[in-house]
Amino acid sequence: MDRFGELSSDSGSHSPSLVTMRQSLPEISVDIDACYLSNPLATDLFWSHFNSDSLNDPQFIKRMFEAYPSQNRDIAEKLAPMVGADPGRIFVANGATEAIQAIVHNYASHMHVTLPTFSPYYEFAQPWQRVTTFHLDPASDFALDPERYVQSVLDSGADTAVLISPNNPNGYLIPDEHLEWILSSLRSLRTVIVDESFVHFAGRRQSSGLPTLLGITNQFENVTVVKSMSKDFGVAGIRAGYAVMDPARVTELLGKGYLWNINGIAEYFFSLFARPRFLDEYRRVLAVYRGQIDRFTSITSNIGGLFAYPTSANFQLMQIAADHSADMVATLMLIRHGVYVRNCGDKIGLDGEFIRVAIRTEPENERIVEALSDVLN
Ligand SMILES: *Cc1c(COP(=O)(O)O)cnc(C)c1O
Repeated sequence: MDRFGELSSDSGSHSPSLVTMRQSLPEISVDIDACYLSNPLATDLFWSHFNSDSLNDPQFIKRMFEAYPSQNRDIAEKLAPMVGADPGRIFVANGATEAIQAIVHNYASHMHVTLPTFSPYYEFAQPWQRVTTFHLDPASDFALDPERYVQSVLDSGADTAVLISPNNPNGYLIPDEHLEWILSSLRSLRTVIVDESFVHFAGRRQSSGLPTLLGITNQFENVTVVKSMSKDFGVAGIRAGYAVMDPARVTELLGKGYLWNINGIAEYFFSLFARPRFLDEYRRVLAVYRGQIDRFTSITSNIGGLFAYPTSANFQLMQIAADHSADMVATLMLIRHGVYVRNCGDKIGLDGEFIRVAIRTEPENERIVEALSDVLN
């Protein structure tokens, strides 16, 4: 198991990818990837469109290789109706991670992050930048207390605050009225980042379009919304994301580069949103997947030897009871059952033994539950 440990530390604060694991540890078979957070039904939907389009047009893939993709502004223009924002406010990114990097390096000098969090928010900070923290409390299921949070941001003297809702790794969704109050209390900041990469899973009521927090955040000029497509559409490999922000900032960022930062396959993915049928199909697939999430979480709340935190995302943070270590649980799940989960031992701000389990398809979820029960009992 030493090589698994080495592989993990080589990947820094992210898990080694499945491809890397299979290359380095061919003797271990990973049957179920419950580490990577994605909607597997949405991957299949994208894949079926991609396949039928490439069958219908033999030049379809060749053109992606041969031609330049469209420029950032052109893609923003096409995305605007789906995003629900003015095209001038959309910064299209090679994965949300690129948008995070651009915002952190250009519009923040002192960031206040909540812990635990998605690590690039503090890892991308440069030596000239400061990072301070607000700790979420496991005893209250990692809920964000709005008043304590705002006080902490203001006391820190930060010019930038980072909120993720639902949060990764714990899945807590900030209620709308709390978010609105927090943002209105932080109008004096230079930048407030709201990362809504998991908001599709949260089951918020939405009359049309896709689930988003933009209805709230659009009222505040200093707010930047970050959105990854990797998780809810299950397309992390094509690198597609965007951020919605002050149009002057989009213009300034595009003046620094990012001209062809989206590749042809990502552009194709974004173009699917112009097909009314694709959105309908996606909404149907999302509803089915949310049913699977609900069934999974109702079962895991009854497994002995762990505490599964409530979640509004497509994964669940689990705290392991005293007599086991998270490392041991994750390792045994992999070796005995081929189930790969995220050992959160290295997550800053999580004190104790935690694993994060991604929710998959129904048959995979049954095997994840079996593996958990077996390893813990
Ligand atoms: C995964 C993740 C991202 C980055 O997603 P990419 O689009 O794949 O770069 C951003 N924010 C959060 C909270 C994430 O979990």
